[in-house]
Amino acid sequence: LAAKHDFRPTHLLEILRAVQARYHHIPADAVELLAEALRIPRTRIIDAIEFYSFFSLTPKGRYELLISDSITDHMLGKQELMAYLADKLNVAVGEVRSDGVVSLDNTSCTGMCDQGPAGLVNGYALTRLDRSRIDQIAELINGEIPLEEWPAEFFEVDDNIRKPGLLLNSQTAQGEALKAALARGFKETLAEIDKSGLRGRGGAGFKTAMKWRFCAEEQQVERYVVCNADEGEPGTFKDRVLLNSFAHQVFEGMTLCAAIIGAKQGFLYLRGEYLHLHGKLQATLAERRASGLLGTGILGGAVDFDIEIRLGAGAYICGEESALIESLEGKSGIPRNRPPYPVTSGYLGRPTVVNNVETFYAASAIAVHGGDWFAASGTEKSQGSKILSISGDCAKPGIYEYPFGTTIRAILEDCGASDVLGVQVGGPSGTFISDQEFDRKLAFEDLATGGSFIVFNGNRDILAIAHNFTHFFAHESCGFCTPCRVGTSLLRNQLDKITGGHGSAGDVVALEEICRLIKTNSHCGLGQTAANPVLTTLERYPERYQSRLKKISFEPGFDLDGALETARRMANRNDAAAHLQQTAAEHE
Ligand code: SF4
Repeated sequence: LAAKHDFRPTHLLEILRAVQARYHHIPADAVELLAEALRIPRTRIIDAIEFYSFFSLTPKGRYELLISDSITDHMLGKQELMAYLADKLNVAVGEVRSDGVVSLDNTSCTGMCDQGPAGLVNGYALTRLDRSRIDQIAELINGEIPLEEWPAEFFEVDDNIRKPGLLLNSQTAQGEALKAALARGFKETLAEIDKSGLRGRGGAGFKTAMKWRFCAEEQQVERYVVCNADEGEPGTFKDRVLLNSFAHQVFEGMTLCAAIIGAKQGFLYLRGEYLHLHGKLQATLAERRASGLLGTGILGGAVDFDIEIRLGAGAYICGEESALIESLEGKSGIPRNRPPYPVTSGYLGRPTVVNNVETFYAASAIAVHGGDWFAASGTEKSQGSKILSISGDCAKPGIYEYPFGTTIRAILEDCGASDVLGVQVGGPSGTFISDQEFDRKLAFEDLATGGSFIVFNGNRDILAIAHNFTHFFAHESCGFCTPCRVGTSLLRNQLDKITGGHGSAGDVVALEEICRLIKTNSHCGLGQTAANPVLTTLERYPERYQSRLKKISFEPGFDLDGALETARRMANRNDAAAHLQQTAAEHE
């Protein structure tokens, strides 16, 4: 395996993926052998195995089932289905069955919120799980039937494009954007992208032309282009659709960027949950090479550029661009200190442009149609359109494209949502807006989003939503800095306590204080936004939090008396003096 990857440490994740797939864990022997073959410390390999949730040092089942824990899956009855699945397979959640055939666990959102409840089996997406499908899956697993012989519809992933707009309606032919750029001139094409006002579609909104120009102006000649296809924000799945049906345009946008900044190598960092797209994307790249649109001498010798696909391994933080670069280098995805920014010092310390799938897709369309075409849509500060992934309580979940400036009310009407309590715009790290705010607009200057748009109706429990999101952040915190590592766990515990009916007025005060600390002291965007689900819901629905509190000033979240049980047994005591009274209520 190491030889297949030319013994390059940068390919550690690829190699570990292959070992995990073959042995259902990473055996200790493999760690030793890889350390020797790749000439890297074994601690770096162990660190990576422990960092990425798809790797394990202990054996998983030969059929590894992971069920998505996204809020939308919960809304579709995930909890009950999980219990049914565990019962059918005779395995507890988080365990491997004693015969080693199957293991079952939760995983973060798999990017199938429009067709859940969803999960993964040995890394491949399973959609539309229900009791009858689970019955069949249990039978297939118990019969140890290879995945290739499972019914194809179990793995069917639909695009669900409901409302195409500016970009999705303007399909361009293979090579059209590159030919247009060559005819116009690469500098002039960059000027068109500048004129279009295109800003990064991952959520941060940095001007694309400026990023490309900064990178092109760097002194170092070796430069890289990276496409961030690690869309891990719960409720986001539009990049999945772009890569499934419009990969040519995405690759063309990357090639255009390479021609402008002078890069010879590009990477598509594909989230591990989209393993089902890997083969199709490799075929698209091969087709482009055969057509002279990738490789050496593209466009009659004007450009040399190729693209390699790298798969992630289940780490939300790798969507952060510097963590993604660390991951591309075969390391744990810990966000770097910034500055320097990737345009100055990115992959292997070289100038690197990192853009989202949708950004490259939009850039290729702009190269064909021009900057004015794009800038004519949207608002003054947010030009063009935004592709949304809509899920939750609506009749038509799927992909919608709107010019910036469209109201939330109009979007809700289109997707068939009624009796709406609120909308989570931008996923858990975004904003929860109430039904009083539906005239607000989709725009960088109002409601910015990387694409996630989750609808909640009047029957939903606000605290259950905040609870799910805080669990997500506590699970996905990379653990590098204390405010986020400890803070997200404290936040989760506080929410557990309040939703469990043990919260008091003091707990809400403590909750706000923890939110403030995480937001202001965390190292990267994950920590800085992890408190948003609590802050935005607490601000809008304080009465819903209040109604869940007990009428006491404080109840500890830790059972001190229970923790003393072992000591009591050892001392052979069970008298009143050997017990502690903990709560104000108990004292009364
Ligand atoms: Fe890691 Fe959280 Fe710190 Fe970001 S804020 S570096 S995710 S621990």
